[in-house]
Amino acid sequence: MPTLFERILAREIPAEIIYEDVHCFAIRDIDPKAPVHVLIIPRDPIPGVAALPESGDHQYLLNAAKVIAEKEGLSNGYRLVINQGDDAGQTVPHLHVHLLGGRKLGWPPG
Ligand code: AMP
Repeated sequence: MPTLFERILAREIPAEIIYEDVHCFAIRDIDPKAPVHVLIIPRDPIPGVAALPESGDHQYLLNAAKVIAEKEGLSNGYRLVINQGDDAGQTVPHLHVHLLGGRKLGWPPG
């Protein structure tokens, strides 16, 4: 059963894909929590951080975040968030990094 994000990548479900490379792609969150709220998603449907293999290079997620943040003009800063599991409120079981910016972000998060 393909994940929601696989279906978006396959263009079965509409979304604004703003970035793609060989490892990952990025879309605007449908329910943004900040003026810029982008989801950076590996093409490989890894369910979440807990399912990451011990060895494996996932630096590409941070590289994509940096490139997108620059493109979005977030020169004053931004936050990267990964929700893992129920306590964190993960709703889509396909690893994704939230890139949030464009306003002052409170700390600690709720
Ligand atoms: P999480 O709760 O960390 O699993 O994040 C999942 C995110 O996916 C939420 O912020 C949702 O608003 C977002 N989302 C759900 N459906 C869509 C969609 N069709 N297009 C873009 N973002 C979505």
